[in-house]
Amino acid sequence: MASVKDNRNNTSNSAITGSHSLRLFQLFDIEIRLDLSVFVIFALIVFSLGNSVLPQWHPEWSVSVLWTTATISGVVFFASLLAHELSHAVVSGHYGIPVPRITLFLFGGMAECDREPDRPKVEFLVAIAGPLMSFAIAMICINLAFWLVGDAEVMESLNAGRLEAMAAFGPVATSLLWLGMINMVIAIFNMVPGFPMDGGRVFRAAIWAATGDLLKATRWASNLGRYFGWTLMFLGILSLMRGEGPGGLWWIMIGWFISSLAAASYRQQVIDSELTGRKVSDLMRTHFESVDAGIALSDFVDQYLLRSTQELWPVLENNKLAGVASLTQVTGLSPEQRSGKTVRNITVPVTPMNSLGPDQSAREALRQLSRGGDDALPVITSGEVVGLLKYSDVVKWMSLSGHTRL
Ligand SMILES: [Zn+2]
Repeated sequence: MASVKDNRNNTSNSAITGSHSLRLFQLFDIEIRLDLSVFVIFALIVFSLGNSVLPQWHPEWSVSVLWTTATISGVVFFASLLAHELSHAVVSGHYGIPVPRITLFLFGGMAECDREPDRPKVEFLVAIAGPLMSFAIAMICINLAFWLVGDAEVMESLNAGRLEAMAAFGPVATSLLWLGMINMVIAIFNMVPGFPMDGGRVFRAAIWAATGDLLKATRWASNLGRYFGWTLMFLGILSLMRGEGPGGLWWIMIGWFISSLAAASYRQQVIDSELTGRKVSDLMRTHFESVDAGIALSDFVDQYLLRSTQELWPVLENNKLAGVASLTQVTGLSPEQRSGKTVRNITVPVTPMNSLGPDQSAREALRQLSRGGDDALPVITSGEVVGLLKYSDVVKWMSLSGHTRL
């Protein structure tokens, strides 16, 4: 359904496709995961097929044929959602933006990529690939179903609303017909022109190509996404008030999800464009102190940590950088564990993984910072700490820079 960046600003996705997912398998270097919520929707789909859709089409079917067809159709349905996401991922990878992970979840699928396309053309092609795949699957399934039945009159009868014509469809043809219809719905639903739906991305690519202004394009597309989400929520509430069953709850949930994702995507875009051209050295803290490795841990607490808001301390051994010590490491130790120890005992060596460079782009640094909560990272050049930077520093810089319209 939606493709999003793997970033902590999209809290709405990480909350939904967070830790409750199972790793299924690896395909084209893409990790395929299954969110546990899929089992809920799978059960709902199989239940509605076996309990209402299929019995209406085939009153003559036995219970075992009904439920076998329903279950297999449910599995193939998720395979077709995966094909939709994979086609986004394969096109994205073709243009140099690999997708490391696809997670199937409650509302469909999600392809997570590290960055967004840098050209409208790439954005357009990546976005359109998914709905085209769903459309292709729909056409193949529907044509196969009618080919299996092999009777032109059946189609006319069905078009005329005579459900008894369904008797000509065996279990395979029935399943194919349903899969064709549901994939058509998915193709159409995803082409709604609100960001972050695929159609919203297509819309954004068009505005972006026409105006050359990605931020404006994102604002328009995400506003449409929000309106669409609100419309779905409104329709859901209306349906609940009319007492049309629990289906309305479903629309409220999808609507809420789409509108919050639209808002988060826009915020993300604002942050990205504000940070364009900025380097770590523009944002880092340059007022900081260092600590000597030989100082007793209890003195480090009393004379340094308690008297400063600084949370990460460069540790010097003979005036040379030995690593860093942080507030979090000390708070994890009981007073007994602290006694007899020096700062040296809690010093963590600096590696490229836990440090930044002053010339590194601010956007890249933000991605690195967002992986570690709000822990500061040291900025290192030729073996020396020249600054410190943490996630909230970047947020502070954004609000001080003044032109942020979130
Ligand atoms: Zn999609």
